Amino acid sequence: MFKNLIGGEWVNGPRVSPNINPSDTRDLIGLYAQAGPEHAQQAVAAAQAAFPSWSLSTPQQRFDILDAAGTEILARRQELGDLLAREEGKTLPEAVGEVVRAGNIFKFFAGEALRPGGEALASVRPGVGVEVTREPLGVVGLITPWNFPLAIPAWKVAPALAHGNCVVLKPAERVPGSAWALADILHRSGLPRGVFNLVMGRGSDVGAVLLGDPRVAGISFTGSVVTGRRVAATCTARMARFQLEMGGKNPFVVLDDADLDGAVQCALQSGFFSTGQRCTASSRVIVTEGIHDRFVAALVDRMKTLKVDDARKPGTDIGPVVDERQLAQDLEYIAIGRAEGATLAAGGTVRERNADGAPGFYLSPALFTETSPAMRINTEEIFGPVLSVQRVKNYDEALATANDTAFGLASGIATTSLRHATHFKRHAQAGMVMVNLPTAGVDYHVPFGGRKGSSHGPREQGRHAAEFYTVVKTAYTQA
Ligand code: ADP
Repeated sequence: MFKNLIGGEWVNGPRVSPNINPSDTRDLIGLYAQAGPEHAQQAVAAAQAAFPSWSLSTPQQRFDILDAAGTEILARRQELGDLLAREEGKTLPEAVGEVVRAGNIFKFFAGEALRPGGEALASVRPGVGVEVTREPLGVVGLITPWNFPLAIPAWKVAPALAHGNCVVLKPAERVPGSAWALADILHRSGLPRGVFNLVMGRGSDVGAVLLGDPRVAGISFTGSVVTGRRVAATCTARMARFQLEMGGKNPFVVLDDADLDGAVQCALQSGFFSTGQRCTASSRVIVTEGIHDRFVAALVDRMKTLKVDDARKPGTDIGPVVDERQLAQDLEYIAIGRAEGATLAAGGTVRERNADGAPGFYLSPALFTETSPAMRINTEEIFGPVLSVQRVKNYDEALATANDTAFGLASGIATTSLRHATHFKRHAQAGMVMVNLPTAGVDYHVPFGGRKGSSHGPREQGRHAAEFYTVVKTAYTQA
């Protein structure tokens, strides 16, 4: 039984939840204790008690702990990657990559702990000096989704601790294993009791307690738009700080002058890999008419070579969908696309068993062509391996179509034109822009986040993470 971590103790809960492998639903990864609302309150109390001391801990202490955690994560990349692929269903190489990313994030923020910035300015008054410094925010509630079971907890926990905050982490119900492994690493890392707490459980009770508790100074949330709105409303009502990363409907533009193979590879990678279950996934490919037919033919050819199978089997390109509910949602959108008149050019078929006969949620990547901007498959986030192609006349129409969305996380373009690449970087209405690169796949040391309906609040990751996890102080001194 894997337990919750509250105030440095491993604690049971009122319920137990099985963690099931989506590649083989007969495979039980483990039983995970589910916290109740009272445990969330206890975790907040423990974090609050630990805060006065941790907020004054030295940069060296924070560096040593975060660096040690990063070293352990990197050293155990194969084992943790195997667990991650087993519980989430992304392929083993993708999962190991995510673990490496998480380890590097801890290393990066270990360094950040040593670099607290500040400014010294002259006052407008004679003889007075001004200092602008950053202090920890307080107790932070971190609420994470299932699609990056280790990297997203890492990119919230590491900056929170580096900047002197105390943490209550509530991971997604479907993937408690990786978050538990992170809690175990941090528990043994030398962190004082209560600085980091893990409460596994339902969003509607455990998560809701974190949103409403006046002792929680900030909430960093990644998940659905619906829950994000709830986080915003609850935090606004009590004037707590919040940061949201939600959905995407990321466009990938392919222009006539693009390198065809490169463009196909980008669309394939960010449309279908990780089973399309990434908020940075491309789900709309917008193609100018001179290259459209060649692009679609080449993409369909490449799609035929993709192997959908057990996430941990060598040679698998795409693992299963995470669970039955998500599979039902993917299939519903495939039905909607057909009903709206789009052409299903490839894929979209379900297999209930993989090549070895193991039961799981296998969906072949689906490609819709001849789609139009108003179709629901082009406006709503599906979160599965479903890609739609829109045909446009020229660059101007491509850019307008790319920006015609309620979301604004990532936006990509394939072109050999410097003029179009430069114009697109400036005019794409997205937090992240990729030129001749897939929209998914970002570095760990630079800001991550979107615009419009995708995100709210300061950027995550990199140096910009300090904007959420610290508060600014302006101090005046008369010498
Ligand atoms: P998804 O559909 O991707 O699971 P959710 O927004 O439902 O997205 O879940 C993201 C995270 O938010 C999960 O950890 C979930 O438990 C949590 N959550 C869900 N509902 C609430 C809520 N009412 N209050 C706080 N957290 C919630």
